[in-house]
Amino acid sequence: MPPVQPPEFDVVVIGAGAAGMMCAAEAGKRGRKVLLLEKAEKTGQKILISGGGRCNFTNIFAAPDRFLSQNPHFCKSALRQFDQQDFIALVNQYGIAWHEKKLGQLFCEKSAKEIVALLEAECEKANVTIWRGTGARKIRKSETGFGLELQNGRISAASVVIATGGLSIPKLGANDFAYRIAKEFDLELAEPRPGLVPLTFDPANRTRFSDLSGVSADVLIRAGKATFRENLLFTHRGLSGPAILQISSFWREGEAIFIDFLPDHDFESLLKEARMARPRVQVATFLSEFLANRLVPKLLMDFPDIPEIGNCSDKLIRDITRAVKEVTVTPNGTEGFTKAEVTVGGVSTAELHSKTMEVKSVPGLFFIGEAVDVTGFLGGYNFQWAWSSGYVAGQYA
Ligand SMILES: Cc1cc2nc3c(=O)[nH]c(=O)nc-3n(C[C@H](O)[C@H](O)[C@H](O)COP(=O)(O)OP(=O)(O)OC[C@H]3O[C@@H](n4cnc5c(N)ncnc54)[C@H](O)[C@@H]3O)c2cc1C
Repeated sequence: MPPVQPPEFDVVVIGAGAAGMMCAAEAGKRGRKVLLLEKAEKTGQKILISGGGRCNFTNIFAAPDRFLSQNPHFCKSALRQFDQQDFIALVNQYGIAWHEKKLGQLFCEKSAKEIVALLEAECEKANVTIWRGTGARKIRKSETGFGLELQNGRISAASVVIATGGLSIPKLGANDFAYRIAKEFDLELAEPRPGLVPLTFDPANRTRFSDLSGVSADVLIRAGKATFRENLLFTHRGLSGPAILQISSFWREGEAIFIDFLPDHDFESLLKEARMARPRVQVATFLSEFLANRLVPKLLMDFPDIPEIGNCSDKLIRDITRAVKEVTVTPNGTEGFTKAEVTVGGVSTAELHSKTMEVKSVPGLFFIGEAVDVTGFLGGYNFQWAWSSGYVAGQYA
């Protein structure tokens, strides 16, 4: 029998996105011999295009309740071990200027390139070897760890970390590698679907709302139990804007969404007051004081002959209020993975130790980042999950 060869690397991290780079640097700092594989020619491609080129790198309100997962408790341990303040400290250490845009969302003052440079510098400091333009094809368990088949050769490793992301934005190289590996190791998947994605109208609603393309409104939106207060934008195919992106991660095919176009107002009372104070005013004119002109006739389209406010009955006022504050829309789908900022679902958290991100049934194999069934809200939460899960796996891989 030939002697068993030790693995060439202690840790191979597959995928040099946010999670993979963080993990590789952390494992390297522990003195592990780390190889980071990236099939693209550049590292951190999604970071570079994120946040309009300024990378919304975390959120000061990051907490477990800002993440979706079949197990909402799973993210707690990683977030506790490495939280937004830890990442902010790292950003400060590199002298990167940042600002809060709104709702706790932190962006680079200058460019997302600075975040990629930070991660590359961390990897370099930790002696991580990076092979760009090198995709991993297959992984098999071996006596001493894992054997990896690459597009241009074979290597071996004691631990393997899968950080290849989800399915969103295939033209950036997103693919199902993590899910295929999960299936090969008999791991459960939470069905992947597009998240943080515009919703589309059926042909009837598309015609109804087509001339509203470009109109936006500050709304309260609800799907199932989830509610968000953000901006909604009409597009030529359906609905977008932060409110819709947020709700899209919760929305399921066939479900209705409910929109309140005047979340700050008790519109029924306002109409009743106007009935006394301004009886000659048209309802549409009154509503235009609160909403975009183009939106008003659409919301009132089921009321062809509304009298002046002074002649509106209590029932009519109630019905008009409902038409503005309880708008029900049933999208016919989403813009899909080509437009989705994230993938909801992924490798089931039931298969992983929450403290380490290691697969319970396959010691030495780890999944991190978007590949895992943990999805953040819009606003820097997805990068925080990448940093937290990457950091944690880096301590144990
Ligand atoms: C347009 C856009 C804007 C976004 N903006 C923000 C934002 O501002 N804030 C925020 O929090 N989130 C944002 N997100 C979401 C965020 O980018 C992701 O959640 C995050 O990048 C996931 O990190 P990851 O490392 O898990 O995966 P990824 O960033 O997808 O990285 C995976 C890497 O693995 C590589 N890879 C894949 N297969 C292989 C293989 N077989 N071998 C080797 N390498 C492989 C890929 O090329 C890629 O580099 C945005 C997403 C998009 C699409």
